[in-house]
Amino acid sequence: MTDPNLVAEMAIKEMETHGVAPTPDNYEFWFTHLSGTNPDLSREVDLLTQNGKVKDAGQINTLRERYITQADKDSAMLDVGGRLEKELAGVMQMLETASKDTGAYGDSLNNVTAALDAERSPAELRVLMETLVAATRTMEGRSKQLEQRLEESKEEVTQLRRNMEEIRTEAMTDQLTGLANRRKFDDTVAACMKSAEDNETPFTLILGDIDHFKKFNDTYGHQTGDQVLKLVAQCMRHHVRDPLTPARYGGEEFALILPFTDLEAGVRIADQVRRMIESKELVKKSTGENLGAVTMSFGAALFEPGETIRDLIKRADACLYTAKRHGRNQVRSEISEDVRKMAS
Ligand code: GH3
Ligand code: MG
Ligand code: MG
Repeated sequence: MTDPNLVAEMAIKEMETHGVAPTPDNYEFWFTHLSGTNPDLSREVDLLTQNGKVKDAGQINTLRERYITQADKDSAMLDVGGRLEKELAGVMQMLETASKDTGAYGDSLNNVTAALDAERSPAELRVLMETLVAATRTMEGRSKQLEQRLEESKEEVTQLRRNMEEIRTEAMTDQLTGLANRRKFDDTVAACMKSAEDNETPFTLILGDIDHFKKFNDTYGHQTGDQVLKLVAQCMRHHVRDPLTPARYGGEEFALILPFTDLEAGVRIADQVRRMIESKELVKKSTGENLGAVTMSFGAALFEPGETIRDLIKRADACLYTAKRHGRNQVRSEISEDVRKMAS
């Protein structure tokens, strides 16, 4: 479909059909999908669609983050990268010109020196000196110009670098919760695995998943659900600080990346987070309605040197599954099968 007016009209209809708020973000999402300009995104939406309706509107947020927000950040990064390259090419060019100028100035000096060798009349000497003074002045002027341009360029490069740093951080951050996103999760886990292997230090990975979150969303709406995601992030940040990293691993799935932490300590940290979450009473801001509390289940795995990131995640995920199966709201690991709800 290519007629943008038609696509726009359909995007608005789709938002109504799916009961999603008519925000610019949602509009961009449906417009992108319906215009067919992002086939990967459309394929995923199609997979989620049944009888003309997306089965689970919560997934739209995840898809938007992955295919639109992330892509925007990537292209912003490329843009700044390109400008940085151009600025540096300009500086190189300037330095090249300057070095040619210096060469020419050297030549004039040599010519004058050679001319001084012979016997010269005072009038001739004056001409030679004037030539020398003029060449020196030109050179001085050029040097000042060059200095100024280099100074400007230095500022520009510093600014571009700062922009690049900001974009890089943003590209690694989950928009809703401000936690590390999936991309940062992958990088950080890989780095922790390497460091654990090199230094023979323990590294524990915890995966967490909100209990019965679908029901919560269905009962109170996605926007309230999003507030819960923010609350979970807050609780994680409260207990897990640098270099330990809390992350949003997927839609309602979170992770605690805990370098220098053995399994027992990791389970303890996860349980602190779990208890904090269950202790929070949720109140709907708009109505003051009390929504009770949400709970979360966790699975913990200690990194085994030599295993892949996929193996590690799989083991943590299996423990999370055990936690779900045994009644949720608990932390499970491979060795602490009996870690249920620790005393609150
Ligand atoms: P369980 O205790 O077994 O984990 O049950 P559950 O209902 O939490 O599990 P399920 O995987 O069936 O549902 C996860 C839900 O998470 C479905 C989806 O609506 C919701 N979700 C995923 N991402 C988001 C999001 O960004 N915002 C909101 N509000 N909900 C989301
Ligand atoms: Mg889940
Ligand atoms: Mg869940």
